[in-house]
Amino acid sequence: MDRRITKEELKIAVTEAYKQFKENNEGKNANYIPYLASVDSDLFGIAVCLPGGETITVGDCNYRFGIESISKVATALLVLKDYGPETIMDMIGADATGMPFNSVLAILLENEHPSTPLVNAGAISAVSMVRPVGNSRGKWESILNNINELCGCKVELIDELYKSESTSNHNNRAIAWLLKGYERIYDDPEISLDLYTRQCSLGVTAKELSIMAATIACGGYNPVTKRKVFPPLLTEKITSMIATVGMYEYTGDWMFKCGLPAKSGVGGGIMGVLPGIFGIAAFAPPIDKAGNSVKSQLALRYIMEQLRLNIFNGKRIVVVE
Ligand code: GLN
Repeated sequence: MDRRITKEELKIAVTEAYKQFKENNEGKNANYIPYLASVDSDLFGIAVCLPGGETITVGDCNYRFGIESISKVATALLVLKDYGPETIMDMIGADATGMPFNSVLAILLENEHPSTPLVNAGAISAVSMVRPVGNSRGKWESILNNINELCGCKVELIDELYKSESTSNHNNRAIAWLLKGYERIYDDPEISLDLYTRQCSLGVTAKELSIMAATIACGGYNPVTKRKVFPPLLTEKITSMIATVGMYEYTGDWMFKCGLPAKSGVGGGIMGVLPGIFGIAAFAPPIDKAGNSVKSQLALRYIMEQLRLNIFNGKRIVVVE
């Protein structure tokens, strides 16, 4: 049986979530990337994008912040589209590591079987597969075009963030070269590392992220630009990856609490995908130990619970006027 939710109810839940958690001061900005430590910790925004293309926004939804790991979703989609799910299973994999996003141990343990494009190792591997292989400039164009299509706008690099990440990405450099040793880098490791760092340094708004989420929720159809970005089958593929590893080592707890496939970034963004229903995003810089925004989690969980949207509850939800 369908359960109907009105747009007004959705708007009220989003506004209420904003009010409830606005003053929360748990968590701390990521500080291993200097730029992120300097972002205003009080910024907070929540955005929803519906299949008809309407957006609901509350708070700081036009502030450009570092997309960070949420870019992994976009590039995973790009290589899924170019190579097909079977090849991605062989060349990268789709298994949650259960470990921190930048774990070297996970690579050592799983060297026979690559893990997922949604942690640093698999993401650098995915970037290495982006075409045209060997051509850094061409690859960057492919990555950027794809993110632009998903978000329905022109996304731009935050130069200062890119510089900041480039001078502090030693751990990721180690990952890239370790992967090379295991033959899981399919292009030059330094090019792959640089493009990965660059894609993480793109600036997006909560509103744009909600549009990317809605594009995934709508089977690859961007509801704002009305353009087809990827084939419908990839929605279930990418959402399964998001659901199993999107919040890193806290993903199981997160799914148990609210049943929302969601992907976080250390810049403070979280993007949630409810296939067929809507895309949602929240942004607030202070993060927890796993790198997930504290206020964004509280807000998304509140909305999921208020409207009983948990994807495992067996109800088919329709948002109506
Ligand atoms: N650029 C960051 C890193 O590689 C992204 C991490 C994240 O958002 N979890 O460390």
